[in-house]
Amino acid sequence: MTQLDDNLAKAQGYLAHWRDGGVMNHIAGASVPAASGASFDNRSPVDGAALGPVARGGAADVNAAAKAAKAAFPAWAGLSGAERRKILHRVADGIEARAEEIAFTECMDTGQALKFMSKAALRGAQNFRFYADKAPEARDGKSMFGPGQMNVSSRVPIGPVGVITPWNTPFMLSTWKIAPALAAGCTVVHKPAELSPMTAKLLVEIAEEAGLPAGVWNLVNGFGEEAGRALCEHPDIKAIAFIGESATGKLIVAQGAGTLKRVHLELGGKNPVIVFADADLERAADAAVFMIYSLNGERCTSSSRLLVEASVYDEVTRLVAEKAARIKVGHPLDPETVIGPLIGAEHEAKVLSYMDKARAEGATIAVGGEKAGEAGHYVRPTLFTGATNAMAIAREEIFGPVLTAIPFESEDEAVAVANDTDYGLAAYLWTSDVTRALRITDRLEAGMIWVNSENLRHLPTPFGGAKASGIGRDGGDYSFDFYMETKNVAFATTEHRIPKLGG
Ligand code: NAD
Repeated sequence: MTQLDDNLAKAQGYLAHWRDGGVMNHIAGASVPAASGASFDNRSPVDGAALGPVARGGAADVNAAAKAAKAAFPAWAGLSGAERRKILHRVADGIEARAEEIAFTECMDTGQALKFMSKAALRGAQNFRFYADKAPEARDGKSMFGPGQMNVSSRVPIGPVGVITPWNTPFMLSTWKIAPALAAGCTVVHKPAELSPMTAKLLVEIAEEAGLPAGVWNLVNGFGEEAGRALCEHPDIKAIAFIGESATGKLIVAQGAGTLKRVHLELGGKNPVIVFADADLERAADAAVFMIYSLNGERCTSSSRLLVEASVYDEVTRLVAEKAARIKVGHPLDPETVIGPLIGAEHEAKVLSYMDKARAEGATIAVGGEKAGEAGHYVRPTLFTGATNAMAIAREEIFGPVLTAIPFESEDEAVAVANDTDYGLAAYLWTSDVTRALRITDRLEAGMIWVNSENLRHLPTPFGGAKASGIGRDGGDYSFDFYMETKNVAFATTEHRIPKLGG
């Protein structure tokens, strides 16, 4: 029996109960079907096998979940930070205890490779531990002195919040959004992506087993234009934390306008990795390969545009092409697999359409450029060379294992090309010249820049994008600013002159 056979047998065990029971909603501590009784099919991107029905939530379900979150809010917000800290650490313990089940379920539901998903649960648990430890400081503010006045600010949780997540790495992203909301004292209604609903249900169950009171965290499955829209429009939901496409982000803002919803948007990217001739080219190539071909390229911070100084363009693209050609595409539960199937047929067709666009626009397909295998939505790691930044392959978020390489002649040109995009999420810079790094990072229009590194997250730092990549920042204390209202109290410290009107 190979490791893959062994893993497949285990996965079947973990998935069995979903086939009959399906993925229910979770409202006020109970697993419930949609109020309408409707459900939809969830199929695995690996082989198209039915994974079980999913509750098709709508406005009635969102309303029940929002009411539950509203009812649970005063008690949860009223707990001390130390008590919330204890419960959130127990949630992290529960995640770690079921790490394998989470990883295998995520692989079969999303097509992401076990190589990366085996760490997803641990990353998720870390998110809970990090915010558990920050819960006692969530209400902290500042004191500010003015003439004759002392100001004290503090923060209070904003109320029940909605969290809407995408399908690319759903477990990790859900923990990333929900852990700080709970640490802040907010209650939550979560709407996961319809294409990858399974681990969100595991997560809310783990949280309640760990002692999270019923109603603090509610889950409504369903489609964006039904359950998602209803969540954005619900008057009891005070804020929407959204991760997804830029086009959907615009809808979130419009749908939330009627109730003046606070929104935080983490959207798409077309992130440049800029490589200068003085960089360690081998390390730069490894990092670029990792950032575009890991997680199937279905990654918001993927380095999807490779900008290389002309004098080393051939060398760097050769290195990347050689590495890409050696990457294993295969079953996500095979421990050697790097690239698994894309999320579904529609997304596969979108990614493959860029192979034709590349040819039509005159770029060269240096490696990949085609489907891998007959069944499943597998696409080979692809590198386009000879591209310009005007081509669709350089302008549009492909969200697959597809990299577009563009040469540049000068520092000014590198910055101009890097910034010539609608997006502004991340940028990566490779150079051994420190002053150049300082100059360029100051000019790059991106929320996050890594110098001589791939995306290495440090949880206290701000995470988010500029331009069409989003509004707002997560991470560290930044998440609390979103999930909380800041209140200022001004105390007079002298008997100052009060204007006398009317005598
Ligand atoms: P998507 O926008 O299609 O869907 C995201 C979520 O929004 C899903 O739960 C969906 O059901 C919901 N939704 C759709 N229409 C809605 C509506 N009208 N109202 C409310 N909710 C609605 O995104 P996707 O295809 O699932 O995810 C891929 C995208 O996410 C990519 O663009 C990627 O770059 C982005 N992403 C960004 C980050 C980040 O941190 N910036 C992280 C991961 C993914």
